[in-house]
Amino acid sequence: MLYINGEWVQSVSGEELEVINPATKEVISKVAKANEKDSKLAIEAADHAFKAWKSLPAKERASYLKEAAASLRKSIDSLAETVTKEMGKPVNEAKGEINLAIDYLEWYAEEAKRVYGETIPASHKDKRLMVLKEPVGVTGAVTPWNFPVAMITRKLAPALAAGCPVVIKPASATPLSAIKVFEAFHQAGLPKGVANLVPGSASKVVGEMTRNPAVKKITFTGSTEVGKKLIRDSADTVKKVAMELGGHAPFIVFDDADIDKAVEGAIASKFRNAGQTCICTNRIYVQENVAEEFGKKLSEKVSQLKIGNGLEEGVAIGPLIDKEAYEKVEEHISDATDRGAKVLCGGRQAAVDSQDGWFYEPTVLHGATDEMVISTEETFGPVAPIYSFSTKEEAVKRANHHQYGLAAYCFTKDLNQAYFMMEELEYGIVGINDPIPTTAQAPFGGVKESGIGREGGHQGIDEYLEDKFVSLNIG
Ligand code: NAP
Repeated sequence: MLYINGEWVQSVSGEELEVINPATKEVISKVAKANEKDSKLAIEAADHAFKAWKSLPAKERASYLKEAAASLRKSIDSLAETVTKEMGKPVNEAKGEINLAIDYLEWYAEEAKRVYGETIPASHKDKRLMVLKEPVGVTGAVTPWNFPVAMITRKLAPALAAGCPVVIKPASATPLSAIKVFEAFHQAGLPKGVANLVPGSASKVVGEMTRNPAVKKITFTGSTEVGKKLIRDSADTVKKVAMELGGHAPFIVFDDADIDKAVEGAIASKFRNAGQTCICTNRIYVQENVAEEFGKKLSEKVSQLKIGNGLEEGVAIGPLIDKEAYEKVEEHISDATDRGAKVLCGGRQAAVDSQDGWFYEPTVLHGATDEMVISTEETFGPVAPIYSFSTKEEAVKRANHHQYGLAAYCFTKDLNQAYFMMEELEYGIVGINDPIPTTAQAPFGGVKESGIGREGGHQGIDEYLEDKFVSLNIG
């Protein structure tokens, strides 16, 4: 079902989307598929709701976010099962994602109350200068399948807190998780039209969002390719844009690091969600005198990771999302081995009892070089190529990517070296001895072609606010 103007409705066309479990390749559900007409209805509902929503005291807007958070917390087990069934991640990872999604709601429920304006000392005795913070307006949001709950609340929470009504198009692979998030808002009694959900045709639903002058902002999380298109499409009506796009994270290990901790960190960063996260490690650079030890320890641990349906106990690696994703992993590995990389573990389809899904063995490659496709293109799969380096200057030069700048990681115990990396890495997020830096109270986002704008932290709500300058002459 679509959620428009506070009601669950069918799509105008009556068309439906099939939802497929990537662990079994079975159709598990069908949901209404929106087109440009449904998108327009949702935008009209949001536009209608704007004035009343922005006029509510921040404390009242915050109370809806808190209610929705409490409702999601109550349904965490069933929602986690839905996430696992429609996109494959292990159920414990799904619970972790939902907790993060709740954190965004709770954080922005508080931030709603801290939208402070400014007063500015004037140059004339009779003038009083001030800056008012006002909501941008109706926001069109487009989200991906790899975090089908948290990517929604990371947009919805700051937008609603700031006073902006939202129309969301979730990924077509994961509408069921999105519907459950909206059920929580419905139960919270959110006023009609303030949040609308339109799963459906990307080109039709999002096309209407970018064309429609009532939409003042487009916020997108997904691939760089689609992000660029949405920036172009938003130009005709000069919308504000926020883009959370692709990444190609380096993971640098110096010889003074705790190698066991670095190995654990590499597993957490690389193999979470079967390597399908935007801040996943893509390239592991290890200082040459410890590269062999690191590769041996990493491959030993990786070959013990349990592969299977994410609903099963102990599974660490679920299926890839679809055939295209699976084939990309195969292509990257075969290009790397053709160019001389050695497979330390994995490197083939995973045989999983009684499951027919897109399973691939988590793979560690040794002897990777900068010319390989995997060194520049986002794999979005469970493949860890290891490169070796000699100096910190060389490491940073090779780690900086010509196109991407989302997340980078570095393991070292040397404070000066840590500072050097922190300052020289051209990325929006740097984890030092920390493979999982994401948290609701800190800004998340990339530089270069990894994005525009930040989500999370106090910066996240600013993205939904305009500065209105008022000059008052009291003379
Ligand atoms: P995607 O193909 O770009 O899809 C993302 C969203 O855009 C989906 O809702 C999709 O709809 C929609 N979309 C696709 N083509 C469109 C078009 N032509 N016009 C308008 N909308 C369109 O990305 P994905 O495969 O879902 O996600 C993986 C990518 O997202 C990776 O590159 C990853 O790095 C990036 N990502 C970035 C972040 C971040 O915070 N920086 C977080 C997560 C993921 P359909 O599903 O209907 O096609």
